[in-house]
Amino acid sequence: MEDELGTFEFPLTAIHDPKSYPLAGKREDKLQTNVALRGLTVGDGSFTLIAGPCAVESYEQFSKIAHFLKSVGLKAIRGGAYKPRTSPHSFQGLQEEGLKIIAQVKEETGLNIVTELMSIADTEKVLDVADVIQIGSRNMQNFPLLKFIGTTQKPVLLKRGFGNSIYELLMSAEYILAGGNDKVILCERGIRTFDPAQRNTLDLMAVAIVKRVSHLPILVDPSHSLGLTEYIESALKSALAIGADGALVEVHPEPTSALSDGKQSLTIEDFSEILGKLRQLSQAFSRELT
Ligand code: PEP
Ligand code: MN
Repeated sequence: MEDELGTFEFPLTAIHDPKSYPLAGKREDKLQTNVALRGLTVGDGSFTLIAGPCAVESYEQFSKIAHFLKSVGLKAIRGGAYKPRTSPHSFQGLQEEGLKIIAQVKEETGLNIVTELMSIADTEKVLDVADVIQIGSRNMQNFPLLKFIGTTQKPVLLKRGFGNSIYELLMSAEYILAGGNDKVILCERGIRTFDPAQRNTLDLMAVAIVKRVSHLPILVDPSHSLGLTEYIESALKSALAIGADGALVEVHPEPTSALSDGKQSLTIEDFSEILGKLRQLSQAFSRELT
């Protein structure tokens, strides 16, 4: 279709229509979902930063990051005890031992814990310590897992599959909502494209599209998108500017010796510097950084 300027007019499709999503779709009586955690609310207009290592590796490692985050006023930490790895020969996470470390650090700091649940079999142990259950990219369409999480009242961070569309992400959210759990936070973490310049191409416009059609909050994960630390600052600034509800960032006390995702993990010092810049920028957008 040609408009009067002679440019091609892209018609908005059902993908951009909130009515296509019976539960996740924005409607007059449901414009925004807020997910309340201890001391912060995701989706209330603030920008929530959830930082931490890819994997919990030791008490010393996890507690060092946790105490730093607490000292700079952040309220949530990420870290996996169960890690979905491409190779079965790679570090799989400390598993139950990791959960014990998480529990101890949670007790000491009061930080909200974001950690991944990979299998229904681990539910009881993981739900016990997690404040937010992470459903990883590879499990975004694990429908039995989604249905199960739907029957709990635990906040969920649902990461976009690296080969999945925005429509599919929202339909996976529908599975959780349909079970009666309305505490769903989405996460754009990059998708696989032809271009090796980024580990996964960060689809920032997914944030704008989700914001148009859905009432669910959405975070951006620049670490798994870029795969390198060099561009994380730019990605975080862009995430804030485009209206994401926050970000998930990998930080490690010693990235070069990390057991997973070291190349994309910021040092505590570098994260601290970026945090300062983000705080300034958040003021320009009248958004509180939590
Ligand atoms: C992670 O958060 O460490 C992770 C494995 O992420 P994703 O599922 O997005 O790859
Ligand atoms: Mn990781």
